[in-house]
Amino acid sequence: MLNIGAHLSSSKGFLHMGKEAVSIGGNTFQFFTRNPRGGKAKDIDPADAKALNDFMAENGFAKILAHAPYTLNPCAKDEKILEFALMAMEDDLKRMEYVPGNYYNFHPGSHVGQGAEKGIEKIAELLNKILKEEQTTTVLLETMSGKGSEVGRSFEELRAIIDRTELSDKLGVCLDTCHVYSAGYDIVSNLDGVLEEFDRVIGLQRLKAIHLNDSMMPFASNKDRHEKIGKGTIGLEAISRFICHDALKDIPMFLETPNELSGYKEEISLLRGIRGEN
Ligand code: FE
Ligand code: FE
Ligand code: ZN
Repeated sequence: MLNIGAHLSSSKGFLHMGKEAVSIGGNTFQFFTRNPRGGKAKDIDPADAKALNDFMAENGFAKILAHAPYTLNPCAKDEKILEFALMAMEDDLKRMEYVPGNYYNFHPGSHVGQGAEKGIEKIAELLNKILKEEQTTTVLLETMSGKGSEVGRSFEELRAIIDRTELSDKLGVCLDTCHVYSAGYDIVSNLDGVLEEFDRVIGLQRLKAIHLNDSMMPFASNKDRHEKIGKGTIGLEAISRFICHDALKDIPMFLETPNELSGYKEEISLLRGIRGEN
């Protein structure tokens, strides 16, 4: 079965997200760990977290994906910004233990002129401070489109972060279809080639989650604008091949398309239909 969900609002708590996921035909979901614009995260209600854990077990959920605020910069030049990223991510990982055994995704950040090599060094340094042997969460590096000075625009850059991280068994990768296409990985005409390259550089066993998005921007444009499924430059045919590919078909996929809940529901139904599940 296709493991699929969408990005949901966390404002009404954990169990609400689980039920909302089911209401749109999903068996997983993504959410922000805290307001991307704000600082302090809301306290977790342990009873609500337990209710979600039970609900997910009863409903055969795939792993869920928490997304760190995209405003964090784990390789900032400014010490204060760097310190804030460290504190927020460390706190997020503690909170993730209320929903154990799931995924936590973050953007590697922007090196803001320090150079990718320095950025990679700083990201690994941060990971070496916050990853703990006893944590049950796998932390995912997201593939980025390469806008501005973003780190993570190539599989090699993600590999370099993993290589410098001591507890690298706690790390995986979340592949964003819109981002990799914008970064110059041609998943439309050469999906097999891109996956072979991913396997050679990073290792497909590290690929834990997919952000399934179409793109408003042309191939290799280094621009990051998500489009509804089938309405963009990637297109429905390529997305159909993607979700049916042997190497990808069991990996949880998360829609981050510009939609309300009803739009997500339609996309999930469309994708399940392509997999012959409706
Ligand atoms: Fe993201
Ligand atoms: Fe994404
Ligand atoms: Zn994006």
